[in-house]
Amino acid sequence: MRAIDIIDSLYKKQEASREDLLWLIENRSTDISQALFERAAAVARAHFGNKIYVRGLIEMTNYCRNDCYYCGIRRSNAAAQRYRLTEEDIMQCCEAGYGLGFRTFVLQGGEDMYYTDDMMAEIISAIRTKYPDCAITLSLGEKTRESYQRLYDAGANRYLLRHETATPEHYAKLHPAELSLASRIECLRSLKEIGYQVGCGSMVGSPYQTLDNIVSDLLFIKSFAPQMVGMGPFIPHHDTPFAHEKAGTAELTLFLLAIVRLMNPKVLLPATTALGTIEDNGRELGVLAGCNVVMPNLSPLSVRKKYMLYDNKISTGDEAAEARASLEKRMRAIGYEVVTERGDYQD
Ligand code: SAM
Repeated sequence: MRAIDIIDSLYKKQEASREDLLWLIENRSTDISQALFERAAAVARAHFGNKIYVRGLIEMTNYCRNDCYYCGIRRSNAAAQRYRLTEEDIMQCCEAGYGLGFRTFVLQGGEDMYYTDDMMAEIISAIRTKYPDCAITLSLGEKTRESYQRLYDAGANRYLLRHETATPEHYAKLHPAELSLASRIECLRSLKEIGYQVGCGSMVGSPYQTLDNIVSDLLFIKSFAPQMVGMGPFIPHHDTPFAHEKAGTAELTLFLLAIVRLMNPKVLLPATTALGTIEDNGRELGVLAGCNVVMPNLSPLSVRKKYMLYDNKISTGDEAAEARASLEKRMRAIGYEVVTERGDYQD
């Protein structure tokens, strides 16, 4: 059967041709998904056992100079209530997170030029000094190579920068002309050369996305060989040009996460907040499809509702850092342990 042959090739050779990937996605069924998830979860188990790594997400600013058509914190959204965290706020998040067992802090935000390289370097080195055993991940968008180097030298270890879509024409339909896929990829290359553990990734079901675009994403990820992949469903936000577009589905997202796991066996792969937003038990389903990371929210409660990238983003519940016990229970129920480890990429 063609589906089983393709899944076998993904499992044994970590690759498949464009035609086969397209065919597999186009012809997916409950049975095919089941076979794929079993293989993907087995590969994740072979590399990570039943461990689930946690990352404490600190959403440090929702100011953004960019105007991505899909994003709720785009600069043209006048309805967004903007906020910025101070160094002190961020240190408090880390302190609370450290106490809860987090050993990776992810500083994420819009591209907010208020935070100069000097300021960011100061924040990063303060965290590095106080928590020498923790990993610091940045997700602050596109910067110059010099800036990335500066922040790396200050003590940052990892950088998440989704490529969003690997097809230039599709990229142009999701972003204004001032943003380009070429510059995104250049950023990703610089980050890798500097020595960061790098995460790329895309949205599933974003407007105008074709199956061919999706296969290009899978092939791009394979060739870029990132240490992390962030892949979650697109969800519309009511104050963006894509307010009336359809959301991506959990079903297709899970299918693609499983393929990502098979093509990139050791990659750190989060079950995203967006997946947990469109499906109640999205994170568990993600783990059962090969994910091995979850990223609970450590941001102060007062700002959580303001970091609204898309409608109904969960912000008080099992995704929150305080709900660690509940997350542990959910993961244990499906046979996994949430662990207190940095969870670095292992070659
Ligand atoms: N500014 C940084 C950047 O662009 O990488 C980090 C913050 S950005 C808001 C983080 C990610 O949120 C983006 O890479 C994008 O994939 C995701 N995102 C934004 N709007 C979304 C939406 N409507 N649905 C799903 N994901 C979305």
